[in-house]
Amino acid sequence: MPRKKRWRRVFREPTVSVFKPAGVPAKELEEILLAVDEFEALRLADYEGMNQRDASEIMGVSQPTFHRILSSARHKVAKGLVEGQVIRIEGGRYILADGSGVLVCQDCGQEIDPKELEKTETCPRCGSRHIRWLRWGEHRDRHGATGHHGG
Ligand SMILES: [Zn+2]
Repeated sequence: MPRKKRWRRVFREPTVSVFKPAGVPAKELEEILLAVDEFEALRLADYEGMNQRDASEIMGVSQPTFHRILSSARHKVAKGLVEGQVIRIEGGRYILADGSGVLVCQDCGQEIDPKELEKTETCPRCGSRHIRWLRWGEHRDRHGATGHHGG
């Protein structure tokens, strides 16, 4: 069995989700996908100036894992700046520390309490691993996604 991955705690989602070089049509640019947990590692270490031990505790991961996330994040951002590419911040294995927002199974549409994912990493209804984070706004905008659970 693969090693169990922890869901990473994120305190703040990015206020801007896409950075694009000015004056170049997006279709001519490559896109770098920076996961939200990578963004959070960058924020804690390089923006807040926090040491990696404290930052790893905040995110609920081991220090080596934090280091790996941070290295990946730094590399992606550097690549985006140097090569002039679009940086999109999206996705990743994370839950919001304040418990806001909704996690939804992409296969059966089941809504999942983020706290459940501290214990399991699969959908409690269908066992799928394709679980996606929906922000509140996005959740409200999804037609037909709500009102079907009889909850
Ligand atoms: Zn499911």
